Amino acid sequence: MEVFLDIGFTLMGGPKDSPPKMIRHVLNLEDDCSEVLYDIVFCENHQTSDSLVNSLEKAFGLRINSDQRREIANFWQMQYVSAYELEGASAFIKNLARSGLGLHIVSNLWLPFYQKFKIVFREIFNMLSSETLSFEEGIRKPSLEIYRRASDRSGALLAESVMVGDSVGNDIIPCAELGMKCIWFKSRPMEKHQLDSKRYLISRYIDIYEANSLGEAQAIIERILLK
Ligand SMILES: [Mg+2]
Repeated sequence: MEVFLDIGFTLMGGPKDSPPKMIRHVLNLEDDCSEVLYDIVFCENHQTSDSLVNSLEKAFGLRINSDQRREIANFWQMQYVSAYELEGASAFIKNLARSGLGLHIVSNLWLPFYQKFKIVFREIFNMLSSETLSFEEGIRKPSLEIYRRASDRSGALLAESVMVGDSVGNDIIPCAELGMKCIWFKSRPMEKHQLDSKRYLISRYIDIYEANSLGEAQAIIERILLK
C-alpha cells in the first residue's frame, strides 16, 4: 500500500495565514482575485520573492510599492524561519516506512516552505519515494490532475492508496473522489460549526477516517492494512 502525505499543517506548521491570504491582505486585493493569486504563489516556480512580486505586478496590473515589497519579502523569509515539525511527524514517517509502506508527498507550497521542509525532515527525507509539488508541477490541489500525476510517478494504484491531510477541500474530497482511502488529520482546532460543516461535506464518501494526531493516523493505517 502507498501513503500520500500533505506537508502544510500535516507534517509541518508555519505562520497561521497562508502565503496567498497574506499577499491578498498586503496588496488589498479583492476576494475574486483568489484563484489567480493562488496560481501565482503555488503554481509558479519562483526562486526569490522579487520574482514573485514581478509576476504579481504583471498579473494584476499593479505597481507594488517598496513597503509592500518588503512585507512580501519578510513573509517569504518567515515561511522559512518559523516553519516547524508537527508533533510526531518524523516518527510517523519512520514507522510507516518501517512497515514497508511507500511514502509520497503531494503538496501545495512555494519554495521557502519546501526548503525548510527539506531541512526539518532531512533525517527521513530519503524515506520518501516521490514528491509532487505544486510550484514544480504548475498545478495545485484540489485538482484531480495533481493526484493523478502523483499516482503515475509513484506507480501506486489509487484504490489501494491512502491520503493523509489536514484540508477537507484540498486533500480529502479530491482523493475520496479518486477512490482513495483518506485520513483527515484535524491538526488545528476549529469551531464546532466548522467541524460540523466539514463533516457534512465528507459524509457522502466511505473510507474517510478522522485523526486527532499522527499517532492516531498511524493506528488507522495499521487497521486498514489488516483488513
Ligand atoms: Mg495542509
